Amino acid sequence: MLLIPCPFCGPRDETEFHYRGEPRPRPPSSVDDATWGAYLFDKSNEKGPHRELWHHAGGCRRVFIMTRDTVTHRILGTEVPGTHAAGDAP
Ligand SMILES: [Zn+2]
Repeated sequence: MLLIPCPFCGPRDETEFHYRGEPRPRPPSSVDDATWGAYLFDKSNEKGPHRELWHHAGGCRRVFIMTRDTVTHRILGTEVPGTHAAGDAP
């Protein structure tokens, strides 16, 4: 069982959350077709630390970004969307 630290509610059981994929390229209005197509169809499937969107469906119902090691499942951190460095936040 994972204990996921929601940035709005604190640590909660993984059963309250849904995985929502990789963060979208931003801002959408300035993303070219090739970048958008790569986001939709070419999943990175990275081994190691990976930034991903999660939805706290059984709690605050908000979306946040979690950095998780895909090998160990260790959670390296969570963040509120829009608070990361410009250019790579959803
Ligand atoms: Zn929450």
